[in-house]
Amino acid sequence: MGRQRFRHHAQSDRRPGRRRTSAGDAEVRPAEEETPMIPATLKAWWEDLRRWYRTVREQRGPARKLEIIEGDMMPTTMPARNLVLAREDGEDWSVGMLCPCGCGDVIELMLIKNTRPRWDLTIEDGRPSLHPSVWRATGCRAHFWLKNGRVRWCS
Ligand SMILES: [Zn+2]
Repeated sequence: MGRQRFRHHAQSDRRPGRRRTSAGDAEVRPAEEETPMIPATLKAWWEDLRRWYRTVREQRGPARKLEIIEGDMMPTTMPARNLVLAREDGEDWSVGMLCPCGCGDVIELMLIKNTRPRWDLTIEDGRPSLHPSVWRATGCRAHFWLKNGRVRWCS
């Protein structure tokens, strides 16, 4: 009899104590964390979606090819996907393309030796590859590799 009463007493002592702590936590945490977290999560989802879309578009579309022009300058209108190689007197000067992110900027990369920065262009089955990666310091700051005519995004 005495033991039963003691057990009952101990339980009822513990329960309200637990409830009070969890209720206390619930009151404090959402107010502090959720306000800045909701926009950050939505932004991350949007960024993921954009990345997924441009990756799928790049993989499903035809591989980018190389169009060779005579001269040391890029044409005034650039092809939508293909790369342009400016070649003069048998020397490859530069390679250009519209930024694959879709921002509309023209990216021009120097190929001639003794310039900095410069890129190596290799062509296999008509599909161009660039080394090293392209990382725009201005504008959209796109960062990607071009391998076998396909853009591989770094970020
Ligand atoms: Zn861009």
